[in-house]
Formats: sequence, C-alpha cells, structure tokens
Amino acid sequence: MDHFALVDGELFAERVPLARIAEEVGTPVYVYSRATLERHADVFREGLAGVERKHLAFAVKSNPNLAVLKVLAGRGYGADVVSAGELDRALAAGIAAHDIVFSGVGKTETEMRHALAKGIGQFNIESEEEGRMLAAVAAAMGLTAQATLRINPDVDAGTHAKISTGKADNKFGVGLHVGPGIYQRLSQLPGISLRGVAVHIGSQLLSLDPLEAAFGKIGELVAHLREQGHTITHVDLGGGLGVPYQAATEPPSPADYGALVARVTRDWDAVIQFEPGRVIAGNAGVLLTRVIRIKPGIRDPFVVVDAAMNDLARPALYDAWHDFEAVRPNGTRMTANIVGPVCESGDTFAMGRDIDTVSDGDLAIFRTAGAYGATMASSYNSRGIVAEVLVDGDRYAVVANRISPAEIMAAETVPDWL
Ligand SMILES: *Cc1c(COP(=O)(O)O)cnc(C)c1O
Repeated sequence: MDHFALVDGELFAERVPLARIAEEVGTPVYVYSRATLERHADVFREGLAGVERKHLAFAVKSNPNLAVLKVLAGRGYGADVVSAGELDRALAAGIAAHDIVFSGVGKTETEMRHALAKGIGQFNIESEEEGRMLAAVAAAMGLTAQATLRINPDVDAGTHAKISTGKADNKFGVGLHVGPGIYQRLSQLPGISLRGVAVHIGSQLLSLDPLEAAFGKIGELVAHLREQGHTITHVDLGGGLGVPYQAATEPPSPADYGALVARVTRDWDAVIQFEPGRVIAGNAGVLLTRVIRIKPGIRDPFVVVDAAMNDLARPALYDAWHDFEAVRPNGTRMTANIVGPVCESGDTFAMGRDIDTVSDGDLAIFRTAGAYGATMASSYNSRGIVAEVLVDGDRYAVVANRISPAEIMAAETVPDWL
C-alpha cells in the first residue's frame, strides 16, 4: 500500500498535489512519501514478529537519501552499507555505528580503517583474503572487528541475472564447501572476531522457495560450525523481497516471508539480521515527469518525457517495468512507446504500452521508483542530476537539490597546456 492516489481526479502524494511539486521544484523529480516509508518499515517488522531476536538494517544502496535514512532511523532501522560513502550517510542520518553492517566484495583497507574508527557494528566478509586484510587492519589499530562470513549457497534466486547474487559463479560470498575451512582459519587471527554467517541471494525475489533453500543450507552450516567448536551468535539473512512493479505481480508478503524465517530459524539460537531495501523504499517513491511532446511512430506514437535513463536506469539496465500514469488522467487510454530525450535507443521506458492518454506538457509519474532510482542517476548527456522531494502529510521539502549541468561542468578543469 502506498500514499500516491487520485483525489478529485488528480494524483497526490499524501495530501500534496504532485502538480504543485512539479510547478515549484520542476521536473523530473523523485517524490517520496514519508507515510509510505514508515508503513513499509513497520509492516516488514511486524511480519517478523515470530522471530524473537532480530536486527533490521535498511539497505542504503536502494535509497541513500539522508532524509529517507532519517525516516527509517526513526523507525528503529540500522543500515546495511556497501561503501565508506554509504557508511557516512548512515551516520549523518543518525544511525548508530553499532547498528551498521558493511557488505560488499571490494572493501578497501582505507574503508575498513574508516569503519573501524567509527565503531561499526559488523563486517560481512566476502572472502578469506578480505578477512585477512580486515584482521590486519583492526589489529594494527588495537581493535577487534566483529564479522560474519558471507556464504554463497549456490541457489538460483529466479530473478533477473544482473541482480542474482547467490549462484556459485556470482562474485559474492564463499562456497558452502569451503566456508568451514575459511571460517576456521580466520577465527585463529587476532583483530577479527567471527560471530556468524551471512547470505543474500538476490533482489526482487517473487518466490520464497529459493530463500527457503538458501536458509536451509545456512541452518546446516551453522550447526556444522558449532560442532567444530565455533560460537555463532548472529546470522544475517540479507534482503531481496520483491515488490509489485505491476498490479498483477504478487510477491510474497512480509508476513509470509516472516513466517518462513520464523519456521526455519526457530532452533538457531542467534540474532537474525535482515537487510531489506526495495521492499521498504520501492513503492514509497515515484518519478514525476512532464511530457515534452508526442512524436508519431511507425506503429505507436512516442511519448517523449523529460525523465530519461540517466534519471531512472532500471528499464535500460534490467528491462524493468514501471507503471506510467497521468497526474490528471482524462479517462481515455492510448497505446504508446514511452521514451526519454537521451540519445540511446535504450532510453525507453515502455514499448506498445496501454497508458492514460497524455499530450504535450502533461504531467505523469513512473511508479515504484523509490528504490534503485535516484541513487543510480547520472549526468549522462549533460542532463544534470535529478532532484528529490519528501512529502509528509500536507507539506514537502526538497531533500536533494537538482545539480545543474553548469555545476557539474564547474567541477571540470581544462589544463593550461591545452
Ligand atoms: C542489495 C543488497 C540488499 C538489499 O536488497 P533488496 O532486494 O533491495 O532488499 C541487501 N543486502 C545486500 C548484501 C545487498 O547487496
């Protein structure tokens, strides 16, 4: 459920007309709803009511906006970060260092030192080599890094190849068969304290089966590690729960997911950690855009909007679907191709789509753009970086200024030898 709905024939974000935001901030612009973010955060937590000891860490990469992070911090969420930049954002938003988990295969020594100095809660180590580096860095600082070992369970998440992370040939984690040996060797090192294992098999999962398969393997591994004499206090189950990009898609609910987790982890006797991203932020944001013009096509007309692949990369990157709706629908429908102004054929949001009829100058939205939207924006085609707005009841604020092409150009220099 979200708070972007028609009121007297016009789309609102909570109690703010989207047309007002377009007028005052310009387009394209991402619009987030605080009430929706909070609702999703609460529903996800409630779904996990059957999991006694848990820790929720919002996956910052899905939406790193400071105001969004502040909203989620207010709902008791920690953060899952994948870079020093994300770590600093989480801290700046008021998330306690000990509630932050650091994931990713490429943590550098500098990032490790920075995170340790800030008192980060946990590193999710993705290789033996990384574990050795972390141990050395922490020991040199006179510290002990808390860590889990990320396991690659070799399970097909059944999602888009580019967001699958749990197959043996993906770069993430270490294989089940080598996990115990690596765990054993890293446990001998000063500077690192291994306290459990982590898993994250992919994003936009529309079935619980792959999760159940992965969690089952993790449960067996935890038992095996304990038999080897290791103390396991934490198991991180990652994120990945899908969202309905189209009304017909019915992803498992947080309640179904929570019931599965409660069932499979019942005897684990550990803090169960979660890293949800998309399921919290996805439907809490829309990308508001204006139609520049309608260009006739061979078959269907092209609706050229002022948002493009540099603002919302998912369709170009993953052939992703985003529902398109007019801000003031007139009740009629048209079949059209929806495209942006960028000079690439990949800058296409939809082909032959049945949509609200729109004409030049009309406002429209792409739905479910709150996750993996603004965070992937670039200035390709020197278009500037898209602005972001947070709505709260009948008020809103610009929570990320538009960065103009001129500002981006100002960061460049031409050497005096040219
Ligand atoms: C991307 C990612 C997440 C979040 O995934 P969602 O599908 O957005 O829930 C969680 N954990 C890790 C390690 C990730 O890379």
